[in-house]
Amino acid sequence: MANERQSGSPCDKETCESCRTKPSAPADRDIDTERIERSLSTIRYKFLVMSGKGGVGKSSISTSLAVGMSQKGMRVGLMDVDLHGPSIATMMGIEQPISVTPDQRMIPKSYNDYLKVISIDYLLQDKDQPVIWRGPVKMGAIRQFITDVQWGELDVLIIDAPPGTGDEPLSVAQAVKDAKAIVVTTPQDVALADVRKSINFCRKVDLQILGIVENMGPFTCPCCGETVEVFKSGGGKALADQMNIPLLGTLPFEPKLVKACDAGRPMLSEKTSTEFSRAIDACIVRITEELS
Ligand code: ADP
Ligand code: MG
Repeated sequence: MANERQSGSPCDKETCESCRTKPSAPADRDIDTERIERSLSTIRYKFLVMSGKGGVGKSSISTSLAVGMSQKGMRVGLMDVDLHGPSIATMMGIEQPISVTPDQRMIPKSYNDYLKVISIDYLLQDKDQPVIWRGPVKMGAIRQFITDVQWGELDVLIIDAPPGTGDEPLSVAQAVKDAKAIVVTTPQDVALADVRKSINFCRKVDLQILGIVENMGPFTCPCCGETVEVFKSGGGKALADQMNIPLLGTLPFEPKLVKACDAGRPMLSEKTSTEFSRAIDACIVRITEELS
């Protein structure tokens, strides 16, 4: 690998792959690490919703799991740290500005009695401008954002992580050390190849993988009742078997989800039972089983 450290050659910490992904030794613990741990210490389970690929439905699934879990009485936090494509606030219909405590910690917005939401886009001054900060600045901003939210007691924190296997998901994985990854894929081969990379990334940085969720799977056509495969089928299950990871569920392609996301009205808020909401419910049951 180009970035791999050659034996005997000097190591450039910023680009060296081995140093970059190696879990930090106690001696080089970042001074913020304890603050992050303290800030997240009132949260029982932390999930990182990840994918090697953008556009596979990470944010839609984070949102749906969060709403679904809150409807079952779990105290849930939903946090969007996808610096380049934060979409949770839009999908949840949650507006700025946010309030801060006297000691400058951000107070998440309440979606309902059980669900609180915060997005890194609250920190971006102009949401239409691309983020072009250098790597270390981005990593620092992500760490600071994770540290400075006042969650209170939560059963679950769902973090919509940045896509890929670069510095951004790495900084999230290193900041939230006891998080478990929920890896999202679509069934088709090109997505699966990227997701395999994502799984290897989790293993390399010692991030426990809770399981895989396959999104945009087959759905039943409301007009003719035929099963429609938009992105093929079965790829998530094959990948889960191959990588020896639990398959947490297969979510169908749901045409109404696109409108719901754009309208800031999460599908599950409607409370009508759909193929998609039933699949999310089954996924939540499976996640709960994996935790026990
Ligand atoms: P990511 O966060 O991985 O980039 P998003 O959650 O933003 O992906 O989803 C990308 C697009 O796909 C959005 O327009 C969303 O509405 C749509 N989408 C996601 N999941 C589904 C699904 N199961 N059925 C139909 N559309 C979906
Ligand atoms: Mg997203």
